[in-house]
Amino acid sequence: MTTIALSLQAVRARIERAAQAAGRSAAGISLLAVSKTFPASYIEDAFSAGQRAFGESYAQEAVKKITSLSHLPVDWHFIGPIQSNKTALIAERFAWAHSVDRARIAARLAAARPAALPPLNVCIQVNLSGEGSKSGVTPGEERELARTISQLPRLRLRGLMAIPEPTPDVALQRRRFALLRELNEGLATEGHAVDTLSMGMSDDLESAVAEGATIVRVGTAIFGARETL
Ligand SMILES: *Cc1c(COP(=O)(O)O)cnc(C)c1O
Repeated sequence: MTTIALSLQAVRARIERAAQAAGRSAAGISLLAVSKTFPASYIEDAFSAGQRAFGESYAQEAVKKITSLSHLPVDWHFIGPIQSNKTALIAERFAWAHSVDRARIAARLAAARPAALPPLNVCIQVNLSGEGSKSGVTPGEERELARTISQLPRLRLRGLMAIPEPTPDVALQRRRFALLRELNEGLATEGHAVDTLSMGMSDDLESAVAEGATIVRVGTAIFGARETL
């Protein structure tokens, strides 16, 4: 087995154990392999090991890989900050956008989503830690953005996404993820058909699974350390 195949197996086992500990079925948790900064050959390797969903953060870099891997039925997820001049690329090439945090970006994605494709799956990114530099709406603001998105054609609101600040404090990890779950439950109460909590990465996926994650986004634990750009 390749290193990537072994790492994937180890991450799947972590998800399995975390699900079991939480009394959940691992079948309700999807693994998104975050391949940003890594070459297309790493994605092919993971694909051969059964991985189908890949996450990219930089539109330009992603489109090169998507083009070179067009022979593979990969599910592409955009997870990085969305600049308005990249909305067409994202709407045309991706199945999911996890990081929508402005009405204007949502409207541009809707306008650019080709009619021949199924609706673009969208999550609203929430800034749970209140850090000024981070993308995402402030908790509470997701309600208005959800209403906006639900009125737009060719977008399907799936739920919420967050990247809490890294911390080794498991109780704090749990509190952040619990808040995202509660906000998502609030959207469901308002009548949105949300089924997705995109939360948890290499270092905190167990806490995320414990609090109800349905997609965990894992890069380092599968592909190794990234060079800082
Ligand atoms: C890079 C990235 C990840 C993966 O983080 P790791 O710590 O490498 O697992 C997950 N989500 C988002 C939004 C990212 O940008």
